[in-house]
Amino acid sequence: MTPSPHVLAARRHWVFDLDGTLTVAVHDFAAIRQALDIRGDEDILAHIAALPMHEADAKRAWLLEHERGLAQASRPAIGAVALVRSLAARGCRLGILTRNLRELVLLSLEAIGLADCFDPAAVLGREDAAPKPDPAGLHRLAGHWAVEPAELTMVGDYAYDLACARAAGAQAVLVNLPENHWPDLADWHFADCNALAATLHAALG
Ligand SMILES: [Mg+2]
Repeated sequence: MTPSPHVLAARRHWVFDLDGTLTVAVHDFAAIRQALDIRGDEDILAHIAALPMHEADAKRAWLLEHERGLAQASRPAIGAVALVRSLAARGCRLGILTRNLRELVLLSLEAIGLADCFDPAAVLGREDAAPKPDPAGLHRLAGHWAVEPAELTMVGDYAYDLACARAAGAQAVLVNLPENHWPDLADWHFADCNALAATLHAALG
């Protein structure tokens, strides 16, 4: 059973996934695979990690340049800017947990006009914690804020975000999908950040 919106509105520590959650997903993984000569079913980062060093370095450099361009062209997801700004205005602690590189996360936040809402120490990228669904990033943020992981609310658009929250004992909010594909993992589901913000707003009166 979904708990009352008042329970959600009372939460003070919010962690967001970046790509597809706060920003519109623009990664064209098929094009990246083609450019780097990686088979369609292979994990891009795992493929690169297994290459001889000089080849891995060259492909990593290409990927970083490609991703830097995407980050600078980031666009906000529906309702994301207003949601984050309203949480920040209420004094909530805000963090990011993403598989993206930290440098690119900061560029993306700058591009969508939300960089000032996040303490850089609460922005965790690929190099800062084991990737979701591992809960290490949420544990680290809980430590940074000196609260129990159960106090955290993780907002994301994919199963890994939800499973990561579940593994940490945090609350999981799924956004940006019309259907809830993972009812066993999501404590909450909203069509987009607008709908989440409207629920919080209504609960707060
Ligand atoms: Mg995502």
